[in-house]
Amino acid sequence: MKTDQSGQHQEAGHGPAGDLRVENLCVRYGGVQAVSSVGFTVGAGRCVGIIGANGAGKTSTLKALMGLVPRSVDGLWLGDQDLTKVKPKDIVRHGIGYVPEGRHVFAGLTVEKNLLLGAYLRSWRGRTRQVLQEVYEMFPVLGEMQHRLAGALSGGQQQMLAIGRALMSEPRLVLLDEPSMGLSPKLVEEVLASLQRLSEAGLGLLLVEQNAKLTFEATETCLVMENGKVAMTGSSADLSHDPLVRRIYLGL
Ligand code: ATP
Repeated sequence: MKTDQSGQHQEAGHGPAGDLRVENLCVRYGGVQAVSSVGFTVGAGRCVGIIGANGAGKTSTLKALMGLVPRSVDGLWLGDQDLTKVKPKDIVRHGIGYVPEGRHVFAGLTVEKNLLLGAYLRSWRGRTRQVLQEVYEMFPVLGEMQHRLAGALSGGQQQMLAIGRALMSEPRLVLLDEPSMGLSPKLVEEVLASLQRLSEAGLGLLLVEQNAKLTFEATETCLVMENGKVAMTGSSADLSHDPLVRRIYLGL
């Protein structure tokens, strides 16, 4: 786990400037206020988690960052780029990758074709083949199965494919929505290992999960969302020892 020089874990709060900065993000679906006044920072190359119960607003937060749901936001920055008014397809071009809940791989296409779909916004850079090789190096199983149909992969392999597809756009920050969902404990461990590899490669990660144990293991800092708001923030280590968090989110 990485720590900053001061040993502080401030980036999940309204703390110092970081790579992704979100100020006063709100999402409303008709009469439902799904996300209210959410603000946080993900430092460059850091790993931040968002945990919370069903309906807490986690998925809506990620979709709002990608511009996929109507939102209001006072500030949305990636480094020095103001993303407040950037269109969803251009958010990817600006360096944010997205791995949606439920993976959504194209079962009838090969692994490689699924990966190449992740590169279509970046093909002008002429680096597609090289990036593909880098993804195969990070996830050797995808290289071994490159000609297989994605539908023939196990759930864990499909999750790696979904992550690999997001990497094809060469993001510097990846948003992951419940990558452990529906996976056996052994496959959850594999996903955790793959997140650690991404982190070691210097990518920033924003991980949304209902699996609090996985999130505390994979991240440095965490937000706890309740009813669309940030109820707690802190270092993942501290939160994992908090009696209330242990009772509600770890069932201990
Ligand atoms: P889960 O873990 O179940 O995915 P979540 O924390 O990701 O939950 P959201 O999916 O963001 O929560 O939902 C937040 C609130 O917004 C919930 O009350 C949900 O019912 C509502 N909601 C989500 N999507 C829509 C939609 N498309 N239309 C109307 N209400 C929605």
